[in-house]
Amino acid sequence: MPEERIISRFLQFLKELGIEAENPGVYNGKWCGSGDVFTSYSPYNGKPIARVRFGTEAEYEETIQAMDAAQSDWANMPAPARGEIVRQIGVALREKLEPLGALISLEMGKIKPEGVGEVQEFVDICDLATGLSRCISGQIIPSERPGHTLLEMYNPLGKVGIISAFNFPCAVYGWNLAISMIAGNVNVWKGASSVSLVTIACTKIVAGVLEANGLPGAICSTVLGGGRTIGEKLINDKRINLMSFTGSTEVGRRVSEIVHKRFGRTILELGGNNATVVMPDADLDLALRASLFGAVGTAGQRCTSLRRLYLHSSQYDDFVGKLVAAYKSIQPGSPLEEGTLLGPVHNASQVKEFQEGLVEIKKQGGKVLVGGEVYDKEGFYVQPTIIEIDPKAPIVQRELFVPILYVLKFDTLEEAIAANNSVPQGLSSSIFTTDMKNMFKWIGPAGSDTGLVNVNVGTSGAEIGGAFGGEKDTGGGRESGSDAWKQYMRRSTCTVNFSTELPLAQGLTFGVGDAAE
Ligand code: NAD
Repeated sequence: MPEERIISRFLQFLKELGIEAENPGVYNGKWCGSGDVFTSYSPYNGKPIARVRFGTEAEYEETIQAMDAAQSDWANMPAPARGEIVRQIGVALREKLEPLGALISLEMGKIKPEGVGEVQEFVDICDLATGLSRCISGQIIPSERPGHTLLEMYNPLGKVGIISAFNFPCAVYGWNLAISMIAGNVNVWKGASSVSLVTIACTKIVAGVLEANGLPGAICSTVLGGGRTIGEKLINDKRINLMSFTGSTEVGRRVSEIVHKRFGRTILELGGNNATVVMPDADLDLALRASLFGAVGTAGQRCTSLRRLYLHSSQYDDFVGKLVAAYKSIQPGSPLEEGTLLGPVHNASQVKEFQEGLVEIKKQGGKVLVGGEVYDKEGFYVQPTIIEIDPKAPIVQRELFVPILYVLKFDTLEEAIAANNSVPQGLSSSIFTTDMKNMFKWIGPAGSDTGLVNVNVGTSGAEIGGAFGGEKDTGGGRESGSDAWKQYMRRSTCTVNFSTELPLAQGLTFGVGDAAE
């Protein structure tokens, strides 16, 4: 019996999610997939889980045709009726919270509570979107002309493409899909290849709801395939009105260039290089716990993971000493086992990024205070690492997507803010302080320049109610809550004349009417 079948036998949750030894990687109302065969491996033991058949270019084209056929009816359905479908998706996800959380843990490598947390985020955004479906609204604006009204109308955009990264294989899809569905768009998703099974499991749950309601599955299509094949098809396709891309800054820059060149719309959620500033007046216990979770949680593979910790010089030694001790207490374990805090990094390339990053760090004068080694065990495990380094070292400017944390000294808040803002990325940042002067400076115009600006909480662990995203090389996109829904819709400004006159704006007269009289 092939290895993946043996594993499947023991993993009941794969069965519950409908994952087979080999799975078609395209859904557009029907399942297909006749492209390359991809094997998905678990990062915790390096062993295969199951295979996926990627989509071909022809299957991509069929999917766009199926989306086309579904688009108009879906767009014309009342938004609250679309919200009801999204509500049912939330219910279906609740039923699969445990098995889907476990699959995320098995395939991505994050610990199971974080896997379940990702599904919970999808559930939460379904709730938010359901409510939103009854209140997405424009404005009525006073007109300068008698007998006229200005209205803002929000209508569906059309087709939305979603490309997601390996580290949030479920939640990022949910953030986009739930909002885009109530906005009335048809959607196509390409998840990262290495988490194809999560993509398939999520698609099956969503497809089940659409089909039970007699709706075309193509409203929520999925085409799995490589970035250079299906990813490139999507970003170059003029029929895709909005491209929501989550991934590295490097690929995001290409997505931006291509989609903007064809005047498509983008939401770009790219790399971060997140910092925490601990002021001398901070609650140090809070700051310590938040720093530990921010830097070590998800083995340093959240876009919001803490990478730079700025400590006041008066408490630097004490704080670093405590953090090093806390790091030493963390042991690696199976991400699926209860109590594990440190799971593996995602794959061999992440291990390489860790090793090569450390070589470069040392070349640039960095000193390892704790960690720095790859664990000698099955799977892809690396030691969470703390580095002392000159804040001006070029490597500090880069996002290393592994659990490496730089500890850095500062003396004044202004200096810390300047250091926080000095990197190209602008996703998340936080300050620990009990002084409201520091707090308001931090969140104000002379403060942090990131998209998420926190006080007395760490850099990671955002809630779905707020708009999520970052500035500069993080791409400028916003997803999820607040008014992020507007990006998924076409705004029309409508001037309505309910009089029998034709006055022109700005008091202009054109003369023809006068002459006719
Ligand atoms: P990646 O850029 O390598 O891949 C992301 C996605 O892009 C994958 O689905 C991949 O197949 C696809 N892709 C690759 N080449 C493509 C191309 N030429 N055209 C179209 N699509 C292509 O990123 P990754 O390694 O999967 O994820 C890690 C990165 O994502 C980190 O930089 C992290 O900070 C970032 N990230 C950002 C956020 C955020 O919200 N800001 C969230 C999660 C991850």
